[in-house]
Amino acid sequence: GLATRDLSAWFGAHKVLERVSLEMAAGQVTALIGPSGCGKSTYLRTLNRMHEMVRGAQLGGEVLLNGEDVYAHGRRPAEVRRRIGMVFQRPNPFPAMSIADNVASGLKLAGIKVGRDHREHLIEDSLRRAGLWNEVSNRLGTPGGALSGGQQQRLCIARSLAVEPEVLLMDEPCSALDPTSTRRVEETIAELRGRLTIVIVTHNMQQAQRISQSCAFFLASHDTPGRIVEAGPTEQLFSAPVDQRTADYVNGRF
Ligand code: ATP
Ligand code: MG
Repeated sequence: GLATRDLSAWFGAHKVLERVSLEMAAGQVTALIGPSGCGKSTYLRTLNRMHEMVRGAQLGGEVLLNGEDVYAHGRRPAEVRRRIGMVFQRPNPFPAMSIADNVASGLKLAGIKVGRDHREHLIEDSLRRAGLWNEVSNRLGTPGGALSGGQQQRLCIARSLAVEPEVLLMDEPCSALDPTSTRRVEETIAELRGRLTIVIVTHNMQQAQRISQSCAFFLASHDTPGRIVEAGPTEQLFSAPVDQRTADYVNGRF
């Protein structure tokens, strides 16, 4: 699994996360919830070393992937990003590139060379795991941009899966999707669970309850950086929160 210990993050002098410690169990779905601006996206980006791509971004504390320090000296960020994939709020396939090439594009970026047969196998397997194969198997040469928004998001999931990551980070992956597409992505997440560790940011409390086993509630205020108020089994966070602020947030009183 994945864990952080006393993780703090800054943008220049602006501290946005303070001593965030969390365990994200292997093979489970962990949901990150909390109001806008509390640092959820920043936290996700610290996990796979995307945070450091922002100018002036700084970090303290530790990120552990299966007990190994993701920021250990000499470790290559690209390798970390291959092992810890990311899916964003807006589906971002290469619009003019074919569905098949979109899926395989992650391989190239990760520097993975595969033979033609294996490439085809990986494309099919990734599309199957993303729950998109049946809809696109007869038109793999179609541009990714020709798919619906929900299909594009599953295409992006397939692209992430092609490099066989251990962890998939998802930053509000359904917030640009209609209810039907949202359901399809949720089904995909449910299918992926077990083989992958998934960390998902969502503003949708019903979604957090449907898909996650663990949940962490983040909060920031004008003068305090984002931190975790409460984390635990999703069921407990929603039915018997310990902190009043958690109760207020999950019940929509925020
Ligand atoms: P939302 O729910 O709206 O997506 P969030 O919880 O994901 O919010 P973040 O995007 O992580 O919040 O932002 C946390 C804080 O960091 C905010 O105060 C934001 O203004 C700041 N921040 C985010 N990205 C940058 C950046 N690139 N440069 C400077 N400050 C940033
Ligand atoms: Mg965000």
